[in-house]
Amino acid sequence: MTFGSCQSGADKLFKDSKIVMGTVVEITVAHRSEEQARVAIREAMAEFQRIDDLMSSYKPDSMVSRVNQAGSSVKVPVGKEVFQIIRDAAAISAASGGAFDATIWPVSRLWGFEQGGMIPKPAMIEKILPVVGYQKIEFDESSYSVGFGVDGMGLDLGAIAKGWAVDRAMEILMARGVRNAIIDAGGDLRIVGARPGKDFWRIGVKHPRDPGALLMTFDLRDTAIVTSGDYERFFVAGGVRYHHILDPATGQPARDCQSVTVLAPTAAEADACATAAFVLGPSKGLAFLRARPGVRGVMVGAAGELHWTDDALALMARR
Ligand code: ADP
Ligand code: MG
Repeated sequence: MTFGSCQSGADKLFKDSKIVMGTVVEITVAHRSEEQARVAIREAMAEFQRIDDLMSSYKPDSMVSRVNQAGSSVKVPVGKEVFQIIRDAAAISAASGGAFDATIWPVSRLWGFEQGGMIPKPAMIEKILPVVGYQKIEFDESSYSVGFGVDGMGLDLGAIAKGWAVDRAMEILMARGVRNAIIDAGGDLRIVGARPGKDFWRIGVKHPRDPGALLMTFDLRDTAIVTSGDYERFFVAGGVRYHHILDPATGQPARDCQSVTVLAPTAAEADACATAAFVLGPSKGLAFLRARPGVRGVMVGAAGELHWTDDALALMARR
């Protein structure tokens, strides 16, 4: 056939990156047409801004902030998408026994890691901790409305929204005909297909204590892989590392892990599960991950020791 001869062209890699949602988002697409690849990447990139504008607790006009600002007797219509992510976040909160808690906002706000972070007074944490509790989120599915059972509550989707955005952005690439791509939002990755000439994408996981070094390498296709660590957002005071993954039971940074890497069908699930397992610590965390279908993980404990689900080993790269 003479028509369609462009199909014989080999795929090349096209990349772009942008700072959005407080992180570097990098999109890599394998495509035969640079023009089509660029259009797809641009549209996918815009998705991160759209989701940040809807879901950030730091943006006063976001849908989530509207819920947070409303009194406990008011349910706020948030639309189908935000309703769905809040319900997913509440489900993971329940499944993790509250180690992940979508209502951690009153506490995470005190720590202020988005602005560099500071140690809150213990009395302030003690005072605010009782309102944290995903069980007190109220849902009205018929109007996609969300509210709280108690005054002073607040939603924080910071541990799931980035993964959610990665999933939506990948849907956009695929709707544009992309079949081989990686989206990496600062350690929240979704992978489809394979690198041209290979049957996988090779993905490195950062070492939590050796910047620039890799902890391990996976050969992956069609999965999400997300790493949550205590080295992304932290400060050190009096020789103690304070980081942004908080234990809802104490209001303090969770102490039992250095990092957790989770593989799951979607980046939203992997993102939330990585945070949950981090707070649960290696033994309860692995049990939590194993109980979820299609979920695998590698955890680095407080002393730097490795723990993993057996099915994660099978995906590690063979050199
Ligand atoms: P990263 O942003 O580095 O990927 P996470 O996915 O673990 O890390 O998200 C951390 C963010 O999630 C924090 O900045 C905070 O907004 C929120 N968060 C912290 N602790 C919890 C928790 N126990 N449950 C739910 N959300 C949390
Ligand atoms: Mg997370």
